[in-house]
Amino acid sequence: MPPVLQIDSAELFLLRLPLKFRFETSFGVQTAKTVPILVLHGPGGVVGLGEGVMEDAPMFREETITGALHLLREYFLPAVLGQPFANPQAMMQKLNGFRGNPMAKSLLEAATWDLWARGLNVPLAHLLGGVRDKVAVGVSLGIQGSEAATVQSVERHLEQGYQRIKLKIKPGWDLKPVAAVRSAFPDIKLTMDANSAYTLADARTFQRLDEYGLDYIEQPLAYDDLVDHAALQRRIETPLCLDESIVNAAAARKGLALDAGRVINVKLGRVGGVAEGLRVHEVAQAFGAPLWCGGMLETGVGRALNIHFSTLPGFSKPGDTASGSRYWETDTVNEPLEMQDGFQTVPQGPGIGVTLNREFVERVAVDTWTLKAQR
Ligand code: MG
Repeated sequence: MPPVLQIDSAELFLLRLPLKFRFETSFGVQTAKTVPILVLHGPGGVVGLGEGVMEDAPMFREETITGALHLLREYFLPAVLGQPFANPQAMMQKLNGFRGNPMAKSLLEAATWDLWARGLNVPLAHLLGGVRDKVAVGVSLGIQGSEAATVQSVERHLEQGYQRIKLKIKPGWDLKPVAAVRSAFPDIKLTMDANSAYTLADARTFQRLDEYGLDYIEQPLAYDDLVDHAALQRRIETPLCLDESIVNAAAARKGLALDAGRVINVKLGRVGGVAEGLRVHEVAQAFGAPLWCGGMLETGVGRALNIHFSTLPGFSKPGDTASGSRYWETDTVNEPLEMQDGFQTVPQGPGIGVTLNREFVERVAVDTWTLKAQR
């Protein structure tokens, strides 16, 4: 008999975790993170874990934690609880009638893929077609406030072994830190991330950034724009990388066809989940565009998924899957996810290969609820 995917019950833990450092981007300053963790229980005691990447306020994308958890509890979970499905894709088809809300859907979908892979007793990376057992890791450094502090932070992270350094920039904080870091470290793989803080009127700034040999510049223009990115790409040599604009595989196809970017940052929550992430990967491969996995300050549950997904063949650039201990005093999983010599080893074992640090999660949860299938 073929295996069946079924969710008998779902537990939600909402955590409020302090970050170990102050993280500044063009959006603002972050010192803590609200983290939804979804635990699915299937027949035979199999468990699936998922972590939500939506935020308290709709800053990165439109979704919020409150809205996403409402949809999950009132609509998405009731639509699938207790029913048998052939696989995660078949289960998610039940949600096709609900428009949008990719981050809310992807939280359920992530836990479902983990449940499915654990039920099959295979690592998720194998199920997805992964080709490597360790993935290259870069680090994303927030805005430091001074050139000296920026250079020091870069040096510290290079010493730890990170293979690529990404600096967050914003108008007024771009050429100076880049020049300082480049002169201190002429040969490192260096990138910038503007998180949509600029317009085409700033094209001159990006033309000047060309001289610093950046690997790419990430999402300089509007989060929902492709046309202006294409106009900017025509005027500079540094490849643009699209992050916020890549909301699904169709957007990736349009972006690459327009030459609005030449590198794709995949965030599974932003594109709507693992299945759509696979389609984005397929599109990028068809265009010959490299991919890498972005981060949303995940704890271990989300980080483990990102590491598994980064094993796909097109992920040829280092991802934002830095060590969990860089962010959290205590993590949501028992297994340490630590970068060594510039790589994260893919957690072994079925599913995403990590187990929930249940004692910690229960102790620090600020809200908890459970939904059970009706019998
Ligand atoms: Mg980004």
